[in-house]
Amino acid sequence: MKRAVVLVIVWAGAARAQSNPAAQAARQWRIAHEHAIVDEFVSLLSIPNIATDRPNIQRNAELIQKMMEKRGIASQLISVSGSNPVVFGEIKTPGATRTIVFYAHYDGQPLDPKEWATPPFEPTLRTGQLEKDGQVIPLPPSGRPFDPEWRLYARSAGDDKASIIAILTAIDAIRAAGVKTNSNLKFAFEGEEEAGSPNLERTLAANRDLFRGDLWLMCDGPVHQTRRPLLAFGARTVVQVNITVYGPSHELHSGHYGNWAPNPALMLAKLLASMKDDNGRVVVDRFYEGIEPLSETEKRALGEAPDVDPALIEEFGLGSTEGAPRKLAELITLPSLNIRGMASSRTGTQASNVIPATATATLDIRLVKGMDPRKTAERVIEHIRKQGFFVVNTLPDRQTRMAHAKVALVEAKGDEPATRTPMDLAISQEVIRTVESVRGPAVKLPNMGGGLPLTSVERPLGARTIVVPIANHDDNQHTFNENLRIQNLWDGIELMAALLVR
Ligand SMILES: [Zn+2]
Repeated sequence: MKRAVVLVIVWAGAARAQSNPAAQAARQWRIAHEHAIVDEFVSLLSIPNIATDRPNIQRNAELIQKMMEKRGIASQLISVSGSNPVVFGEIKTPGATRTIVFYAHYDGQPLDPKEWATPPFEPTLRTGQLEKDGQVIPLPPSGRPFDPEWRLYARSAGDDKASIIAILTAIDAIRAAGVKTNSNLKFAFEGEEEAGSPNLERTLAANRDLFRGDLWLMCDGPVHQTRRPLLAFGARTVVQVNITVYGPSHELHSGHYGNWAPNPALMLAKLLASMKDDNGRVVVDRFYEGIEPLSETEKRALGEAPDVDPALIEEFGLGSTEGAPRKLAELITLPSLNIRGMASSRTGTQASNVIPATATATLDIRLVKGMDPRKTAERVIEHIRKQGFFVVNTLPDRQTRMAHAKVALVEAKGDEPATRTPMDLAISQEVIRTVESVRGPAVKLPNMGGGLPLTSVERPLGARTIVVPIANHDDNQHTFNENLRIQNLWDGIELMAALLVR
């Protein structure tokens, strides 16, 4: 197993010869400007960017606007009431008949600085991955190249400010080399993706002409675990379900009343266990109904997608996996039902000898294309009823609790259907060809497992979306010590250059 890991690193570390002309120009430009590129990246990463931090969000947006203006890109900040601005930019190509929009987001996940090895908004260079003993080093003096395995640590280094830097640097490179673009180009950099893009659809709907485009390239997320490039043609959406079940009106002594007063923790455990079988399949009635089947092209792409590296199973410490013989890439094209967490009374040293009064669980249901979010929630509620629960949607009073043996308060949230761009479309095939001409065989997923605001783009604009990530898979996105591997930035610049000139 060790040997396999070493081979992967050697393979990924070898610089590919570059034959795509735009990517070639990007490589030359990058080699000559590494310091300026990283400097610009460092200034952008130095501004805190949590979506709720309005003054700093504004500073981020204004800096990105300045970065565009420095390049002569017509740019403006677009917002609707209560939203963080979307930084918009446009490059017109004379005679072009189509428009490609490059999307990225400049806000980052909330954080606790105490968990970070170095301050999240003081970008810090390390000789490698922190978990593998990467040491803090200063930025190299100008004239000295960056080691591609070095990593820059800061919030949003990977998710998702790297994409913004890669796109803008790629523009510099193709212009300097005089490589012509073939499409009109637009840029939309969002400031509240990590807050769930609450205003994106409204912002786009209110500015349809400005944001209209044939294709939105969603530049966000990590590449494949093998470091091969990845393309995702859709994303899953989420319905969140909170369930609370009830026992006695207050906690009772388990010695005096055990064997007599029903225990809500056990009721909840049984209820949740009734939702899935031992191989992870959801057994809620009609749960899989309506799902749009995969096309032959999509099935072929999944067949070609690599299976999970055993090293990853070891890294996660997993004694088993679900869904065999299907691969992870295929399993994420199915909906899932996951327990985000559960709670009832107290545990461990805090535990007391009680029968709890309530038990609560929060579930997330990941939807795929074709599923109706509202119907899915109803089917889960119907399942809960079938297990003998009286289901309410507001806090049940004593009367209600006494009138039924089992009462569950169920709240469902989320009404966004999932979307998937067919891989067979000419534009999809073109993006695949472009990416593969730069970076070799790509892992092509019908949809990614996580969420991205694709529906918020497709619904108001009627545009297609394809996800093009550049960050390393081990970038600690959404948690502490987020980082970007330098080679991923270099590769990302080349990839963006090739996509810009399509
Ligand atoms: Zn992101």
